[in-house]
Amino acid sequence: MAKPNSFLLETLLSAVRSCRACADLPCGPRPVLRVHPAARLLLIGQAPGRRVHDTGVPWNDRSGARLRAWLGLSPEVFYGPLVAIIPMGLCYPGTGPRGDLPPRRQCAPLWFGSLRAQLPAVECTVLIGLHAIRYHLPQRQPLAALLRDAGDGHHLVLPHPSGRNNAWLARHPWFEAECLPVLRERIAALLA
Ligand code: SF4
Repeated sequence: MAKPNSFLLETLLSAVRSCRACADLPCGPRPVLRVHPAARLLLIGQAPGRRVHDTGVPWNDRSGARLRAWLGLSPEVFYGPLVAIIPMGLCYPGTGPRGDLPPRRQCAPLWFGSLRAQLPAVECTVLIGLHAIRYHLPQRQPLAALLRDAGDGHHLVLPHPSGRNNAWLARHPWFEAECLPVLRERIAALLA
């Protein structure tokens, strides 16, 4: 992959921040992401929630606190230069009767490839939740199978850490008991 160019990265981020492709977002466009050329770990989640939209800080909510615990990362490391954060939809999509709406479908095809090209040092990508998993690993294995085989070597997968998945977590206690320790070990080695 080509060496990152800070001018290109700044130009790209400026274009992302100016994106108005989704004119009907309930709170307007406000892309929330973190991209550092030195990042070794890339986190791909769903889309910002309302609190994240308001603060402009990714994973700045209860889901984020659980995600950091799952990954074994302090806030300092999570928000540091070794971790990039690009959700499937960069802007808050609004809320429906069953919680936050899905990420805008047009966002990842529009921006992900260019952003990923600015992350040449990434060795591991964590796909968080079904929207990210289905886009990046489209072969459609069940989540439990993906968790058990730890993805394809370059990707790791996680259920979304939202409280909406508490029932799933309760039905699959092996995830926290068996998968998370392996995941934390891999990530600690990657960021050491
Ligand atoms: S969600 Fe993505 S495509 Fe839509 S306005 Fe935001 S940055 Fe643009």
